[in-house]
Amino acid sequence: VIRVRGLHKSYGPLEVLKGVDLTAPRGHVISLIGSSGSGKSTLLRCCNLLEDSQAGEIQFEGEAVRWKGEGLRRHPSDRAQVTRIRTNLSMVFQQFNLWSHLTILQNVMEAPVTVMRRDPKEVEAKAREYLAKVGIADKADAWPAQLSGGQQQRAAIARALCMEPRALLFDEPTSALDPELEQEVIRVIRSLAEEGRTMVLVTHDMKLAADCSDHVIFLHQGRIEEEGPPAALFGQPKSERLRGFLSAST
Ligand code: ATP
Ligand code: MG
Repeated sequence: VIRVRGLHKSYGPLEVLKGVDLTAPRGHVISLIGSSGSGKSTLLRCCNLLEDSQAGEIQFEGEAVRWKGEGLRRHPSDRAQVTRIRTNLSMVFQQFNLWSHLTILQNVMEAPVTVMRRDPKEVEAKAREYLAKVGIADKADAWPAQLSGGQQQRAAIARALCMEPRALLFDEPTSALDPELEQEVIRVIRSLAEEGRTMVLVTHDMKLAADCSDHVIFLHQGRIEEEGPPAALFGQPKSERLRGFLSAST
């Protein structure tokens, strides 16, 4: 579904991604791990075209992103393509960012109805289905502020699902939560992985990465230091840096 080749991304003089490759085939879960500042969020945001990048290719469903300009001036040239890719790669952020002035149901229905112009009746049925799936059907008419952090994050996941995207991108979806609430969200992520959804998951939770991914990428200072199936990566890490990172994060 998603294929990234040789991606370079700088913020002014700071080169954050130094030629990164990532492939997320349909039905696979790819986890991105690495220390703070290694470029994980940036890579996710570049996949979703929320950030421009200076060199390298991004393909979505076999279709290459078309660019205009070069280097720091490079940006996608085709607005329709950007919208298509964004609505097909829904992202769930660390902070839930629900709209505080909309109910939970309205939050989940917002993008499909206003951006994607789907039929509100059908969207509502879908929205209720996804709220039930993440275990908060009874919160449909509540306001975001009335929900716990774990419930808000599950609402954010229902909202991403309601767009019926080709893939889900998660950026540390549990890092703002207490350990207990974290488990609620992890259960939802695991069930999505078991359904065979295509996902790219940035996580600091090594157990989650080990249990539910098909492939793990360890980023270090904007480069892939090591990658492979979770059993190999966690069981027999080859690089010194990965060994250090893993022993520090348990
Ligand atoms: P964390 O685990 O802390 O979330 P990360 O691996 O997600 O870290 P990124 O957020 O991708 O790291 O940041 C990578 C580098 O890019 C950092 O040095 C950061 O300071 C820098 N950076 C990120 N966003 C911006 C921005 N908008 N402008 C300038 N620099 C940025
Ligand atoms: Mg980050």
